[in-house]
Amino acid sequence: MADVEHRPSNFIRQIIDADLASGKHNAVQTRFPPEPNGFLHIGHAKSICLNFGIAEDYQGQCNLRFDDTNPEKENIDFVNSIQQDVNWLGFAWSGKVRYSSDYFDALHDFAVELVSKGLAYVCFLNNEQMREYRGNLTQPGKNSPTRDTSVEENLALFAKMRAGGFKEGECSLRAKIDMSSSFMCMRDPVIYRVKFAHHHQTGDKWCIYPMYDFTHCISDALEGITHSLCTLEFQDNRRLYDWILDNITINCHPQQIEFSRLNLEFAVMSKRKLQTLVEQKVVTGWDDPRMPTIAGLRRRGYTPASIREFAKRIGVTKQDNVIEMSALEACIREDLDSAAPRAMAVLDPLKVTITNYPADGIEWLDSPNHPKDDSMGSRKLPFGQVVYIDRADFKEEANKKYKRLVLNSDVRLRNAYVIHADEVIKDNDGNITELKCSYLPETLGENPADGRKVRGVIHWVEATNALPAEFRVYDRLFSVANPAAEEDFLTVINPESLLIKQGFAEPSLHTALTEQAYQFEREGYYCADRDSSASKLIFNRTVGLRDSWGNSEQ
Ligand code: ATP
Ligand code: MG
Repeated sequence: MADVEHRPSNFIRQIIDADLASGKHNAVQTRFPPEPNGFLHIGHAKSICLNFGIAEDYQGQCNLRFDDTNPEKENIDFVNSIQQDVNWLGFAWSGKVRYSSDYFDALHDFAVELVSKGLAYVCFLNNEQMREYRGNLTQPGKNSPTRDTSVEENLALFAKMRAGGFKEGECSLRAKIDMSSSFMCMRDPVIYRVKFAHHHQTGDKWCIYPMYDFTHCISDALEGITHSLCTLEFQDNRRLYDWILDNITINCHPQQIEFSRLNLEFAVMSKRKLQTLVEQKVVTGWDDPRMPTIAGLRRRGYTPASIREFAKRIGVTKQDNVIEMSALEACIREDLDSAAPRAMAVLDPLKVTITNYPADGIEWLDSPNHPKDDSMGSRKLPFGQVVYIDRADFKEEANKKYKRLVLNSDVRLRNAYVIHADEVIKDNDGNITELKCSYLPETLGENPADGRKVRGVIHWVEATNALPAEFRVYDRLFSVANPAAEEDFLTVINPESLLIKQGFAEPSLHTALTEQAYQFEREGYYCADRDSSASKLIFNRTVGLRDSWGNSEQ
């Protein structure tokens, strides 16, 4: 039995519960129908979690079906990346991957059926005329001059269309519905157009391609989908979805149910805009860690569990809304707080020489990998005469609130000794180049015996064993919450969305693997980038610590 108690409840699940209780259905069949014209984004993840999640919870099936009716905008790389992303999120589709193009023959035959019934006709209006004839919300449309052509003639014309006898744009096949309908989509919508395009699945077999609205409902019905879940912009099109299925010979009529899209602050979600970011080289690609794509989030260090948790928290409704970026960030932080081993890395290094420590003495200190989870074990951390600390962790003068190193006062190096800052070395321009400190030998795991005050705890890396590393500190890609509302969203790119820093990491990180998350103490959560190698370590910042540095104090 499904684990009923842990199922999220929403209006769609209530409809399904009622359909199962009434015996309308005895099993649930859903589908996720992406168009392979871009990478999937976090909005798609909401739809994936909904469709696959429902199938899982009701012990039903969910198909993955590529909605591939626009061959010019689609390609096989997108087909592959989408499959990878769905799998990575942790979902398995039922049977083989499906394509709307699998049904091109059937769709063609259904179109012929509509023509035979006098419910579709070949129209020779060009785009501009068609717009003019369509009317608008206050004016009914006008009938196409060929609306009443005989069935025989239309059958011959459609056959000629299929055989390549017409040029692109010269004619189209339209459903004969109602030119005065208050739903614009019902004013004799185009269901087939001429397109001499090579298709990634069907090659050059077709020179006519079915339109989305015609294809989608029939594909759903052919697959025995029970509940066809889509976003709110298809609300009006539901009339067309139902009209087509009611007027062809098919023994399945799925129910279309609409829910609101996910909108996320500080992000754009339309594939067209994401494509622009890639083409204009604002980002390095679809999987740039600043992109809201699944591939980008993955490279950034998000886990599948964090994205599924996010989908669960935002829920499913019919209300349009915008989710705060911090809601997504909270999900990954919570996941990584318990899962990510701790490590030390210094992003902006300042050399510290410990004058009373032996010049060639290295000792290996035991450091727990997680402060609250002993089962994660510990590692050996070298300590020596020269260490790096972060520049921001030292001031020549500061008041008591500054819990880091100050000249003539004391601070603890995390998991190591208390040091005292004795002297500041500067270059000719007055920049600090080095600190001379002394360490208190008896302070390993102990407070100073003389009762002196230690301001706080800072992170560090021993110099001779330190691994040079690049840190890519990512932030929000946009500087305003709603970039899509701008006239040109490219004008509101956050100039600090990526800061690259060259610093040092502790030696245990030489084995850092892609997608292994770490909490770099007091810095944030990081993971090795896929470009990282043993000779050049590169870490991506997934997300900062909630409360920059106070939060991680021991
Ligand atoms: P875009 O507007 O980003 O180009 P789309 O709707 O054209 O998206 P499709 O590939 O057709 O993209 O989408 C596949 C499925 O994912 C559809 O069922 C669609 O409704 C759903 N989907 C797309 N964007 C979102 C979103 N932001 N929130 C929830 N579901 C979405
Ligand atoms: Mg679409």
